[in-house]
This record gives sequence, structure tokens and C-alpha cells, in this order.
Amino acid sequence: MKTIVLFRYMIILLVASFAALFELYAQPQRVLIVTGGKDFDKQAFYEMFSGIEHDTISKPAAFDRFADAGFNSRYAAVVFFDTYQPISQPEKEAFLGLFNAGVGCVFLHHALVSHQEWDEYEKIVGGKYHHKPYMHGEKKYGPSTYKHDQDFTVKILNRNHPVTRGVQDFSIHDETYLNFSVRSEVTPLLTSDNCEGGEYIGWAHKFVNSKIVYLQPGHDRFAFENPSYRLLVRNAIDWVSR
Ligand SMILES: [Zn+2]
Repeated sequence: MKTIVLFRYMIILLVASFAALFELYAQPQRVLIVTGGKDFDKQAFYEMFSGIEHDTISKPAAFDRFADAGFNSRYAAVVFFDTYQPISQPEKEAFLGLFNAGVGCVFLHHALVSHQEWDEYEKIVGGKYHHKPYMHGEKKYGPSTYKHDQDFTVKILNRNHPVTRGVQDFSIHDETYLNFSVRSEVTPLLTSDNCEGGEYIGWAHKFVNSKIVYLQPGHDRFAFENPSYRLLVRNAIDWVSR
């Protein structure tokens, strides 16, 4: 009798182990990279993602992809590198579906400029590049502006965060943004010694059920080929992925 009980117990244990193993391997690993609205050095940009399983798509086709029934089981995370404005109500709903499902998102560089007329987008990204002047409290700011070909130091503000793991302060040649806004609920990760730019140029936060990271550098190959920037992008993808 005791042998049968033990045997049953072992079978249950075996089935449970296989189920746990299956669940581990069934986790999506693939990343969807969303572009659109802006030309860029495709070769240098996509080179950053070598070794990471990924698909590419641009807006507005991306919104249809977000609404696919199998999206959540296929993709671990979405990387946004678009500057795209129009967004319809069904497209907003498809976008917001990502966050209900807990899909992690990494927003890079000019993704801060997208969807100017959709207030929710600023809450998703954690900040905004403003085409028009804006109020913060009683004070008027903006519009946001940019400067190309700046040499500055990216400084790590939060060394204990998984996104900055292994990254030291580093020099970069890149575009800077000025007079953009950053929401108070974000966890600041990066700042710079370029005092004209904003106080924070990288942050993490949570939106609905998703982890979000924004990294402001990333205008062209000077950033894409920068090993420290590449490590930040990879760490960000790892951290937001489920
Ligand atoms: Zn740029």
C-alpha cells in the first residue's frame, strides 16, 4: 500500500516538474520593434538587436499587430522607435491593450514626440516632448526644442536598478532635447552634464500592468554603436520582459 502511495506521489511530482518546465519555455522571448514617421539608419539601428529574437513593424500597421489574438503569447516586449502622430480610437484601444496584458515597453529617443494630441501617451511613456508651449503648475514651458551633434556625459543616477546594471557614466555624441516634461511618478535612471537638456534623460516606471523604460539618447549611429547605450537598451528589454 505504502509503495502505491509513494509511486503516485512520484508521478504527481514528475508531472508538476514537466508542467513547470513547459511554462518556463513557453514564456515568449521575442521582441517587437516598432518604427514609423521618421527615417533612420536602419543598418546601425537593427544591429543593436543582433542576438535578440525580434520582428519589426511600423505604425500604423503596429496597431493591428497589437490587437492580434496571439500577441501576448508571441511577444515578451515592445521597443518603440517611432515619431508618429495620428491615432484613431480603435488604435488607442489596441495600444492600451498592451498594458492591460502587462506587455513591457521600451521607448527610445524620438518616441517621446509621438501622439502629441493623445494625453494618455504622456502617462504611458512617463514624459513628453511638446510641439506646443505647455503649463506645469503656474509656469509656462516650451515648446520643446532639440540640438544635434552634442557631446556630453550620460550619468547613471540609480546604480541599483536592473536597467543600469553594469553601466558606468559614459560619453556620447548625440542629439539632446530641451524643455520636455518628465512625470513625477517615474524612477529617474539617467541624467547628463549637458545642463541645457532636461534633468532626467532616462527613467523607468510602471503603467497599468507593464514595466516601462524611456531612454532619450538614440538619434543615430553614434548612439547605436555606443557600447554603454547598447547595454542600457538590452538591460531595458530584459527588465520590461515578462
Ligand atoms: Zn533625433
